[in-house]
Amino acid sequence: MGKIILTGDRPTGNLHIGHFVGSVQNRLKLQEQGDFEKFYIMIADTQAMTDNADNPDKVRKNVIEVALDYLGAGIDSKKVNMFIQSQVPELAEITMYFLNLVTVSRLTRNPTVKDEIKQRGFNASLPVGFMCYPISQASDILAFNSTCVPVGEDQLPMIEQTREIARTFNHTYKEIFTLPEPLLPDNKTCLRLVGTDGSLKMSKSAGNCIYLKDEPDVIKTKVMNCYTDSNHIKISDPGKVEGNVVFAYLDAFATDESFKKYLPEYKNLTELKNHYKKGGLGDVKIKMFLNNILQETLEPIRKRRKEYEKNIDEIYSMLFENAKKAREVAAETIEKMKSAMGLDYYHKSL
Ligand code: ATP
Ligand code: MG
Repeated sequence: MGKIILTGDRPTGNLHIGHFVGSVQNRLKLQEQGDFEKFYIMIADTQAMTDNADNPDKVRKNVIEVALDYLGAGIDSKKVNMFIQSQVPELAEITMYFLNLVTVSRLTRNPTVKDEIKQRGFNASLPVGFMCYPISQASDILAFNSTCVPVGEDQLPMIEQTREIARTFNHTYKEIFTLPEPLLPDNKTCLRLVGTDGSLKMSKSAGNCIYLKDEPDVIKTKVMNCYTDSNHIKISDPGKVEGNVVFAYLDAFATDESFKKYLPEYKNLTELKNHYKKGGLGDVKIKMFLNNILQETLEPIRKRRKEYEKNIDEIYSMLFENAKKAREVAAETIEKMKSAMGLDYYHKSL
């Protein structure tokens, strides 16, 4: 049996370069390799509602934005089943059964959820749905019997939780779930790309993003405002590359080719870093270099996206048809689950 891939994003804003290097690039690679049985990309609107219940309009609007970002980035809707989570209600039913297989104390130990709760300042107003989203995410993954989940590093605790749920189900009732594996980017910087402010991971909720759809002048302004090293005041001062956002992005995007094209006086990133550390290399120069690379990377994505923007109705009908197919698969999983749990009152012979 080939790979079954499932991955997705929350429609809480447009996709940014953190998504691109953290998971979209791996998705594109998998799509091109083609050695999969099924490939699903889910726009997780139900999950987005867990911390946006008072703002469904934001979620609704961003569903099409995220779909356009995927298509712009090169996701091929003929090869990949792209669907909207809420349009597959079977996922909610699966969640109801999984909720019973996880303890409250296990949920509260999830480090990503802990960080997110802090970041959002929920305190006593923490919605139960938000607390439980890792369980709903496990349902999304297991509903399709996914074997491979391309994600950024912050999602590792979710995959671990999913594997635990699968194991518990298999052990308690019957062996029906395969344990999924995460697929992380090879490049360490891309595991958790830092935001332009240098303090947190780049995240839609933190407002520290360079978006795939940003126009050239916006990209340039954001690059010029990136955090570098607050002690690197004069060009002659030695500079730090650790914690320096420009170097983090260069780690993620610069190739030897980029040097040949835009900065031929250096052979590669190691040489550039060494010069910066020694002193004598100004921030404007490295920022201009980064700007050139990002402009080159994002231009084709933005152009393709603009073409797709002319056919919004077609995109919605593609999402509609795909959800129907996804429902069929998820319904089969529910049948198997109910049979394993003995809740198959009318089909004992199945
Ligand atoms: P939100 O702030 O609403 O949670 P987000 O920017 O964190 O949004 P998600 O939709 O939660 O984005 O994440 C989607 C996928 O992108 C996940 O697999 C996640 O690991 C990956 N990802 C998100 N941000 C980054 C980042 N800065 N670096 C690498 N991967 C990332
Ligand atoms: Mg997130």
